[in-house]
Amino acid sequence: MLMKKLIVDFAADQTSASREDFVICSICLFCFQVCMLCSVGYHLFSCHRSEKTCRRWMALDYAGISIGILGCYVSGVFYAFYCNNYWRQVYLITVLAMILAVFFAQIHPNYLTQQWQRLRSIIFCSVSGYGVIPTLHWVWLNGGIGAPIVQDFAPRVVVMYVIALLAFLFYISKVPERYFPGQLNYLGSSHQIWHILAVVMLYWWHQSTVYVMQYRHSKPCPDYVSHL
Ligand SMILES: [Zn+2]
Repeated sequence: MLMKKLIVDFAADQTSASREDFVICSICLFCFQVCMLCSVGYHLFSCHRSEKTCRRWMALDYAGISIGILGCYVSGVFYAFYCNNYWRQVYLITVLAMILAVFFAQIHPNYLTQQWQRLRSIIFCSVSGYGVIPTLHWVWLNGGIGAPIVQDFAPRVVVMYVIALLAFLFYISKVPERYFPGQLNYLGSSHQIWHILAVVMLYWWHQSTVYVMQYRHSKPCPDYVSHL
């Protein structure tokens, strides 16, 4: 359903979209879908009687989250630095390198162990938190907080981070089931809230991307930024 809605949104802007837009949006949607499918697979097979299989799916679930984050970055960086080819390439390459590094960490045999639990959280927080750097750079390149384009789009990034932070807090704190043990086994557990918030976040980000894309198509790049 989500996939259909996302495709329809992009198709609606077909008249002004270039091939580049379709490639970027396809990568983004593909990443979101892989993220969701890995998660579905993990939850479906987490009751598998072989512990090894179960852990493999769990690793895949983590890898899926990285791919989902990559999808957010690719579209975000692409449209934020639409008029700035140099920085766009710099950030796309660093994001790709970072996600690859996380991948290699994830195939480490110790990755899913209890001892690495803190490290796992640190890795995910840094991968998601890294986005603050291109965002601040983008604000600076566009003339600071007061610039109309920044006032238009920066709150969208902030909202995304608030949703992501909320999702993460539910994920690690295990609220509300820690206060109602045994009562939320089927409905209302923190992990369900985490998944709902993750979908809301991906959808919000997709809406913002479409918004920025339409803005970029309607307003050509100003000359002064092209040399930065
Ligand atoms: Zn899950």
